[in-house]
Amino acid sequence: MINLLSDTVTRPVPAMLEAMMSASVGDDVFHEDPTVNALEEKAAAMFGHETALFCPSGTMTNQIAIKTHTQPLDEVICDELSHIYRAEVGGYAFNSGIAIQLIAGRYGKITAEQVNAAIKPDQDWLPKSSLVVLENTTNIGGGNYYTLEEIRPISQLCCEKGLALHLDGARLFNALVETGDTTKETGAMFDSISICLSKGLGAPVGSLLIGNAAFIRKARRIRKAMGGGMRQAGYLAAAGIFALDNHIERLRTDHLHAKMLGEAIQKNSAYENLRPIMTNIVIFDVRSPRNAETLLNHLKSNGVVASAFGPSTVRLVTHLDVSEEMIARAMQILEHF
Ligand SMILES: *Cc1c(COP(=O)(O)O)cnc(C)c1O
Repeated sequence: MINLLSDTVTRPVPAMLEAMMSASVGDDVFHEDPTVNALEEKAAAMFGHETALFCPSGTMTNQIAIKTHTQPLDEVICDELSHIYRAEVGGYAFNSGIAIQLIAGRYGKITAEQVNAAIKPDQDWLPKSSLVVLENTTNIGGGNYYTLEEIRPISQLCCEKGLALHLDGARLFNALVETGDTTKETGAMFDSISICLSKGLGAPVGSLLIGNAAFIRKARRIRKAMGGGMRQAGYLAAAGIFALDNHIERLRTDHLHAKMLGEAIQKNSAYENLRPIMTNIVIFDVRSPRNAETLLNHLKSNGVVASAFGPSTVRLVTHLDVSEEMIARAMQILEHF
């Protein structure tokens, strides 16, 4: 089977499993898991922040960040395609009692001008704009990425206006291998950063929330309240350390594979509206009278799994468990639809 459903489907490679099985562990609720502590220190140092918090999922790191940065009746500003809006069950309202101000960006990306126009004036009858969230790379936006030069004016604006800036960096390393921007430069732009270890980096479970000590102290209490305090989580953290040490540079291969899939799509007039392929996500439409379902059935009967992103829209995601041979085969299957 060739699984292009998501980059979350990867299984630990043997060396990662080895690292997990030989991890030293303790009770992380008491700060006593040495491997979790090492992972948190490593991630914080990479981004030039003071500390970090290991959590079960990227949804949890984002939700904890939103809760930590806001008060009820505040408002978060983000792109209308954001994961925090479209794929986290409306958790911003449920967990934090806040409103959301959406911006119609471009492939999931927003600009400082748009953010500036979205910030609400201080009035009794309006929610208070207190947080901006950027997503890099953009998921529903099709794997597009921000450069540091695009982020800097947004970061400066948030500073000037007293808003916090959080990065949903579920696929941040996919962006950084393309832009060449560093983790330290990126860290300096944001008050908090969430990264996923369980996407392209190939760990089975886990995300990190990164920030300063006071922020993470508060975030740690909220993690516990959400039921995310884990005990011998070092077995999972060991996979995260392995992922950060071994699986960042290879993301370029996934991007190359995505571009190859794009070439096959462009060869067949059954498809249209192929979105720019910037990283490891390929989004395109199936031309009428056929639709996403007919293509997914064709793919499935040939051993390829993908997902529908709308009635005529299909998404393919490349990752660690998709080899060059599998890409060659998937290209043939896409061309023969
Ligand atoms: C996957 C993802 C998350 C977090 O997802 P979990 O499945 O909860 O780990 C957050 N933001 C973006 C953009 C994502 O793609």
